[in-house]
Amino acid sequence: KASMENILWRRSMQMRAEQQTWQESPEGRKMLEFRGSLPAYKEKEAILSAISQNQVVIISGETGCGKTTQIPQFILESEIESAHGAMCSIICTQPRRISAMTVSERIAAERGELLGETVGYKVRLEGVKGRDTHLLFCTTGILLRRLLIDRNLKGITHVIVDEIHERGINEDFLLIVLKDLLPRRPELRLILMSATLDAKLFSSYFGGAPLVHIPGFTYPVRTHFLENILEMSGYRLTPDNQIDDYGQERTWKMNKQAPRKRKSQIASAVEDALRAADFKEFSPVTRESLSCWNPDCIGFNLIEHILCHICENERPGAVLVFMTGWDDINSLKDKLQCHPILGNTSRVLLLACHGSMASTEQRLIFDKPEDGVRKIVLATNIAETSITIDDVVYVIDCGKAKETSYDALNNTPCLLPTWISKVSARQRRGRAGRVHPGECYHLYPRCVYDAFADYQFPEILRTPLQSLCLQIKSLKLGSISEFLSRALQSPELLAVQKAIEYLKIIGALDESENLTVLGRYLTMLPMEPKLGKMLILGATLNCLEPILTIVAGLSVRDPFLTPLDKKDLADAAKAHFSRDYSDHLALVRAYEGWKDCERDLAGYEYCWKNFLSAQSMKAIDSLRREFYSLLKDTGLVDSNNTIYNSWSYDEHLLRAIICYGLYPGICSVLHNEKSFSLKTMEDGQVLLHSNSINARDSRIPYPWLIFNEKIKVNSVFLRDSTAISDSVLLLFGGTISKGEVDGHLKMLGGYLDFYMSPTIAEMYRSLRREL
Ligand code: ADP
Ligand code: MG
Repeated sequence: KASMENILWRRSMQMRAEQQTWQESPEGRKMLEFRGSLPAYKEKEAILSAISQNQVVIISGETGCGKTTQIPQFILESEIESAHGAMCSIICTQPRRISAMTVSERIAAERGELLGETVGYKVRLEGVKGRDTHLLFCTTGILLRRLLIDRNLKGITHVIVDEIHERGINEDFLLIVLKDLLPRRPELRLILMSATLDAKLFSSYFGGAPLVHIPGFTYPVRTHFLENILEMSGYRLTPDNQIDDYGQERTWKMNKQAPRKRKSQIASAVEDALRAADFKEFSPVTRESLSCWNPDCIGFNLIEHILCHICENERPGAVLVFMTGWDDINSLKDKLQCHPILGNTSRVLLLACHGSMASTEQRLIFDKPEDGVRKIVLATNIAETSITIDDVVYVIDCGKAKETSYDALNNTPCLLPTWISKVSARQRRGRAGRVHPGECYHLYPRCVYDAFADYQFPEILRTPLQSLCLQIKSLKLGSISEFLSRALQSPELLAVQKAIEYLKIIGALDESENLTVLGRYLTMLPMEPKLGKMLILGATLNCLEPILTIVAGLSVRDPFLTPLDKKDLADAAKAHFSRDYSDHLALVRAYEGWKDCERDLAGYEYCWKNFLSAQSMKAIDSLRREFYSLLKDTGLVDSNNTIYNSWSYDEHLLRAIICYGLYPGICSVLHNEKSFSLKTMEDGQVLLHSNSINARDSRIPYPWLIFNEKIKVNSVFLRDSTAISDSVLLLFGGTISKGEVDGHLKMLGGYLDFYMSPTIAEMYRSLRREL
């Protein structure tokens, strides 16, 4: 033992010497000078002394003040200074994998080292870390996984949880686990970092833990809302939802007579958006009407217009554009690249910044471009607080974000864009004032901003809890509802009970809330359990290709487009893809057709002809790869085999797998003379969404429809559905009257295709009576 201590001490001394040498070198000095200029540096002593005196410390400070890059370094350096360098082990969690990667690389550079020496990172499927790594950045999910095998975080001296203001479900979950751990590990230090000031909630959660605030400085930012932007272009947004040409009388609203050339592209784009939103009264805007206002409609043209304005008229400085997701970013990038001014690479450097970009691209984002070149970065909300680009002077904010974070352990791929909060809008605006006074263009009217929620609603209170419940079980944290009652803000008991009940119905938990074999597999797949189930069965039955497409398709915007004026044509195009009474199988065919188009241009043409969204097709394509790599972790597919399972497009098999995943989303089809009616257990009579393939047939030769989603407008509508037979429902539909089915199954000896048998017939008759 003594000699082990000796080795560690010698190694610590060596670390101290190495650091001294670096800090005295010319580059080291320059780095230190830069670090010294960050606001966090001025609070170094206060922070370190708070950490040494308290088990939990909460640190807040504006984005870019140096929390993420400096505070873990302060701790590391102070340990090295006091000759404990080799004894400390600091873990810092990030909500997103990309920030774990960029930040660790940055810190290594600040220390004059290579990544994987003292500083490393670990994200799912990737990581750089060595024997001497003492500061490790990882995603929250990775730390949760580590807790699975190492409940006490043996050997870890400091845990830093970054970006707690985002209130991601993983971070809230981690905090409960860590709070339980603290008494067992009295020497462990926990540091929470937040970009906003409302850190008091966290302080009281941890028994009055001290708050250290890092005061920051930003230059003033001029703010333009949509009405101001229009005004600059010579239009006016009048209160009753019309756009006027300045000085003209009400020429707008449905302005068919107005000469076309008077309408600028941007004004007509805005007009389209207003019409789509159908704001009868533009002000005041309520939360409800917000959901109708769709920035996607105005988005691209307006952004292009503003970017042009900046490039032509404004002084130098980078532009940061906040978009909803990487599919939008890619499409806008494609569009801008064809623009005469913005596509001119000798004047404009166009970059993307999102969770799945390549690392070469990451570095370009931080570099200063050559003189005379304007840097434009198209980013997701990742650039809101996790990544700071220094030379930004102009910000364009679309006002929406896809809320669930990337690579979350419980990532429910809720990929629909939602409105951001006031806090987020302010964060985005603040990005413009770091080096100069800046300008911020919000692509929505002031009254829409006023209707934003103040803070982002914690994810744990707004997303389904099924995955989280599975996680609690796999970490052996006891009763689910008892555990969740100890959260920072607990979800409603009813929501928890619903989640548990659902997990029992789908067979992931048994009656006494223990994980089943299926449940165990599902905990390895960070996605909604229904999607996980389909992947698991698809992989097991060797028909993964089409199942990957279906699962990816359920996670993106509907790829089948239905322009209002061409609905018949669009419907016909969709019908062409399926004779199987299934929207899901239609998607498989549509995707395969797209995949067969070899070149990009042919792909676009194919989409155009068939009323498909090329954007969604691309998104599906990349999600399929993502899902496949997740599946490899479970060991259900051969990890050496890069070719997916065979295509086996067996309609019957696929119906069974879809049923296995989407159950209990089931409704019965009752035929009468001319048509049919639909019923579900909870809602009674339901209708089919008009985009569904099944809505167009007056006869569905199957007794059941299995569906993914219900929407309640005036009636209840089912979106995508697939028709299935009795035997499929009975054999693959979870645990409907389980004992009964089990008994019959035993009798049948697993013989599937048996639904002509009188026993089965009686069984489903009684089931249908129940519905
Ligand atoms: P915070 O976590 O408080 O938002 P950071 O520690 O991420 O701030 O960043 C502090 C400063 O370090 C930034 O303002 C920026 O100037 C610089 N910085 C951070 N990451 C990089 C990077 N990858 N390359 C260059 N500079 C960076
Ligand atoms: Mg940070």
